[in-house]
Amino acid sequence: MPGEPMSAPPFQTEPPAPSVTKSDAAFRVVLINPYELGRQPFALAQPTAWLRRAGMEVVCLDLSLQTLEPQALAGAGLIGLYLGMHTATRIAVEALPRIRELAPQAHFCAYGLYAPMNAALLHGRGIATILGGECEPDLLALAQSVRDGAPPEPGGVHVGLDKIAFLTPDRSALPPLERYTHLTLPDGGTRVVGFAEGSRGCKHLCRHCPVVPVYGGRFRIVPPEVVQEDIRRQVAAGAAHISFGDPDFFNGPTHARRLVEALHREFPALTYDATIKVEHLIRHAELLPLLRKTGCLFITSAVESVDDRVLESLEKNHTAADFAQAAGLLREAGIALAPTFVPFTPWTRLEGYTALLRRLVELELVESVPPVQLSIRLLIPEGSRLLELSGFAQHLEPFDPTILGYPWRHEDPRVDALQEHVQAWAAQAEERGLPRREAFGRIWELAHEAQGERPPPLPAGPIGAAIPRLSEAWYCCAEPTRRQLHSF
Ligand code: SF4
Repeated sequence: MPGEPMSAPPFQTEPPAPSVTKSDAAFRVVLINPYELGRQPFALAQPTAWLRRAGMEVVCLDLSLQTLEPQALAGAGLIGLYLGMHTATRIAVEALPRIRELAPQAHFCAYGLYAPMNAALLHGRGIATILGGECEPDLLALAQSVRDGAPPEPGGVHVGLDKIAFLTPDRSALPPLERYTHLTLPDGGTRVVGFAEGSRGCKHLCRHCPVVPVYGGRFRIVPPEVVQEDIRRQVAAGAAHISFGDPDFFNGPTHARRLVEALHREFPALTYDATIKVEHLIRHAELLPLLRKTGCLFITSAVESVDDRVLESLEKNHTAADFAQAAGLLREAGIALAPTFVPFTPWTRLEGYTALLRRLVELELVESVPPVQLSIRLLIPEGSRLLELSGFAQHLEPFDPTILGYPWRHEDPRVDALQEHVQAWAAQAEERGLPRREAFGRIWELAHEAQGERPPPLPAGPIGAAIPRLSEAWYCCAEPTRRQLHSF
C-alpha cells in the first residue's frame, strides 16, 4: 500500500491517526516539486505523511525528474506546489498554465519559503491559497475543506510558525533516490544521496536571506527520532550519504550533536554533509572533530563575500578574516569546506571581485567552488530585508514579475558586464564539464581584463584539492535551464 512504512517506527512520538472516512479515501492531492537542488524533497515527503495519515490519496510529481503526466493530475481535488527556492518558483510559474489545463477542477495552493513573498503574483496566476512556514496542518485543513465542498475564498495567505508534530516523512510516492543528485568523491567514486532535515527556519536575520521574511529569526526542530527513522528508510532505499538540508545545522548545536551521534551509531559507514554559517563554525569549533568522526565529509557555508563592507550590508555577522579562520578550523578537523558566494551586489567593486578570486587561491579553495558560484548576482525578492536599507531602493527598478525580483544596475557598468561574462562562461564550463581549475582560470582572466589589467599567471603551486561534492551545484537563484523546463 502506498505510504506503508517499510518497517515499524521504533518510537511512538506521532499523534494517533485521525479516523478515515470513505470520502477521505476518494480525495486526491497532487504535490508538485519544481526543483529542490536535485534532492528528494522533504517538503513533499512530510505533507504526504500528514495527508495519507488522514486517508487521502497523494500523488507526488518531481518536475526535476518527471513530466506532467495527464494521468497523474486527472481528478486532483487539490494541487500543492512547493516553492522552496527562487528557481523552483520560476519553473512553477512557467508550468502553471499546463497544470491548470490538466487539472481544471482543482483548488491550487502554493507553499514553501517563496510562496508568501510572491503571494500577489501567484494569486494573479490562479493560485487560490498561499501557505508558509510550518504549513502541514494548514495544508491538511485546506485539503479537508476542499474535499468537503467548502474551499476557502481565493486570495488567502497564511504563515504558520507554531511547533508541529512532525511525522516520519513518507517518500514512497517520490522517484527513487538513485535518480537524484549523487555524491562524487575526489577519486571519482559516487554514492547515492539521501536528503534529511533536522530543522526548518533560522535564528539569524541576514538581510538577503529568503528564510528571514517567513521565519523572522525562529527555527523549528524536527525530533531526532523522526530524523533517524527518515535516514533509516533512506539507507534501506540505497542512500550511502545524507545531505542535511537545514538552513543552518548549528542553529541548535545540541540537537545537531544528537543527530550525528545517532546516525553514526547506527550506520558507521554512512557519510553526510551539512550547511553551517561561518559564525557558527567558529563559535562551535569544538564540535568539528565530532562531525568528522561521525562521517561529515564537507560543510557548505554561505560566505557570500570577502569584502567587510558588503558583509556588513548583508548583516552576515562574520568578516573576511572570520572566513579564513573557519576555513582553517575545517581544514584542521579534516572536513572539506564548500563556500558559497553572492559576488555581484550593488556594492561590489571590480577590485573587490579580483580580491575574492585571490582569496580563494590563497586559501587553496579553487577546487571547492563551482564556477556558477562566482557569477551569482544579488537577488532582491519582494519582502527582502534589503529593502529596509536606507538609500538602497534608489539602485532598484520596479518589481519585475518575470524574474520575481527587483532588477538593479550597478553604478559601474563594467561590473554588470563582468557578471554577464562570468555567468555565460560558467554555464559553458558546466556544459562542457571543464575542470574547476580551468574554469577558474578563465574567470581570473575576465576579472583582470575588466579592470584593464593583464591577468597575472595563477600560482603554479597548489590552489586547492578536489573535494567531495554533490552532482548538482549548490545555488538557488539562477535562471531555470532548458533541461529544468523540459517537463511541460
Ligand atoms: S544564517 Fe543562513 S539561513 Fe540563517 S538567515 Fe543567514 S543566510 Fe539565512
